[in-house]
Amino acid sequence: MAGFTYRRLACDGRARTGVITTPRGEIRTPAFMPVGTAATVKAMHPEQVRATGADILLGNTYHLMLRPGAERIARLGGLHRFMGWDRPILTDSGGFQVMSLAGLRKLTEEGVTFKSHIDGARQMLSPERSMEIQRLLGSDIVMAFDECTPFPADEGVAAQSMRLSMRWAQRSRDAFGDRPGHALFGIQQGSVFPDQRAESAEALRAIGFDGYAVGGLAVGEGQAAMLGVLDYAPGMLPEDKPRYLMGVGKPDDILGAVERGIDMMDCVLPTRSGRTGQAFTRRGAVNLRNARHADDPRPLDDGCGCPACRGYSRAYLHHLTRAGEILGLMLLTAHNLQYYQDLMGGIRAAITDGALAPFAAATREGWATGDIERL
Ligand SMILES: [Zn+2]
Repeated sequence: MAGFTYRRLACDGRARTGVITTPRGEIRTPAFMPVGTAATVKAMHPEQVRATGADILLGNTYHLMLRPGAERIARLGGLHRFMGWDRPILTDSGGFQVMSLAGLRKLTEEGVTFKSHIDGARQMLSPERSMEIQRLLGSDIVMAFDECTPFPADEGVAAQSMRLSMRWAQRSRDAFGDRPGHALFGIQQGSVFPDQRAESAEALRAIGFDGYAVGGLAVGEGQAAMLGVLDYAPGMLPEDKPRYLMGVGKPDDILGAVERGIDMMDCVLPTRSGRTGQAFTRRGAVNLRNARHADDPRPLDDGCGCPACRGYSRAYLHHLTRAGEILGLMLLTAHNLQYYQDLMGGIRAAITDGALAPFAAATREGWATGDIERL
């Protein structure tokens, strides 16, 4: 069985482009991972997701352990077979969503006990249980179990939380064991404190992981604070392993993160926005619910090759969205995922050419220009 490897192909400033090789296929980086929370990228067939250029999906341990259950998915042949996606899957550890979704949480050194937000059943997650669930799912990239430090946190609280996460990182490593072809990523914590970020990076390096995430961001701190941490935090992590920023983000956040050395990202934004009538385009965000589109026969984005832009008018997309038609959600989700993957493709090509700065400037100028003139 082939192993899990990361190879850098080119750098431009702090930005890197490369390729992660897994037994289930290659992941071109910088990569954007669509989110398939409940074993589905909402409103999309797996083959459509692949057609947008996505090399890897994200699945959520917390949701899948509650429904339909990790043991059940394992009996049915694993998450890839269950959902009909044969390429790489990354699963989160469940830690973040326990803190954001579950009821009656109790956090101890051992782990977290909580009540399911679905049926109130008592559940437990620990580093060992999270590793077991992610193994049952058959995840290609497994995330260490950590505590996502809330923002803002004062220095003492952040340090205590970070050190707990580092002890859990060691337990995750021990429980993961040796699984050729599967990767385990550690997660750096330390909030907005450089000393703590350094201490966390040092602890993770000592344990040794196949990749490293910058954790504790995209939790409400705002773009300026996030980019402030990304100015130094990725540089503390090993250069020869992939770096993952969890839960990011808007197109401009993605560009900013790549410019600071991030290789992988995921976010519900393109799919969730697609279900509320918001589209991301080369000319910025467009709200299809707006009445200005009601009589507009032009495509949403004439530079886009997705089904929504190739086959339909803004007027039709507006109508579907306003009428709450399912096809509207499907088309706008398809468009948004296509836009994100086109952006990533452009970013990778620009890094290869040593031209990320002009690419980023032109891309931001397009967003700032705003939507096409109304008819
Ligand atoms: Zn499109």
